[in-house]
Amino acid sequence: MAELLVVEDDETIGTALTTGLRAHGHAVSWQRTGHGALDAAAGRVFDLALLDLGLPDLDGVEVCRRLRLCLPGAVLVILTARSDEMDVVVGLEAGADDYLTKPFRFGELLARVRAHLRRSAVVPPSQSLLTIGTLTVDVAARRVTVGEQEVALRTKEFELLARLAVEAGTAVSRETLMADVWDAHWYGSTKTLDVHVAALRRKLSAAGTDQAPPPITTLRGHGYRMELSESPA
Ligand code: CA
Repeated sequence: MAELLVVEDDETIGTALTTGLRAHGHAVSWQRTGHGALDAAAGRVFDLALLDLGLPDLDGVEVCRRLRLCLPGAVLVILTARSDEMDVVVGLEAGADDYLTKPFRFGELLARVRAHLRRSAVVPPSQSLLTIGTLTVDVAARRVTVGEQEVALRTKEFELLARLAVEAGTAVSRETLMADVWDAHWYGSTKTLDVHVAALRRKLSAAGTDQAPPPITTLRGHGYRMELSESPA
């Protein structure tokens, strides 16, 4: 049983979500406002939060940013009725791991929640310590360093990095990355992937000011490849 936080001011959607998730054995705290969500998150640890971006009291993106801080280990999924892709990107940059655009079917949401809670094991245990140039990924300890510098990554950033690192030097398709890191039955936009790769590049190079980390190369129309060594200057 997982501890879930549902932040939704719409009575119909909120009732459907909480009833459905409880029927599938999860403990659900339903909050209708941003302040309510932040209070709930301050007093309890959640495994996953579903966050509507259109809240009556606070800006949803700001709530997302603050939830990320009080729930560092939780999966954050934003729910948005807005079709504007900018909101999704801003939400992902504010700390969300994934998003779902309204209207969605409950079955779709449940599948996504289950996939997140499974915590996909993207790297076989036999390869729990990966070293590529100056980059070290300790999968068991979930610790990443560039040179001597430790890099703080969010859950999905870590899994994405581990997935690329385990096959460093080899191209990995977008479909494979989305399936392995997010959901085996992905059928949404893959903007999530690009935002996470951008965040990874930013954090790795910020840590690698003295010793450059191995670059992650974009393979247009295919996917990404972690290079085995740093590119020549
Ligand atoms: Ca709303």
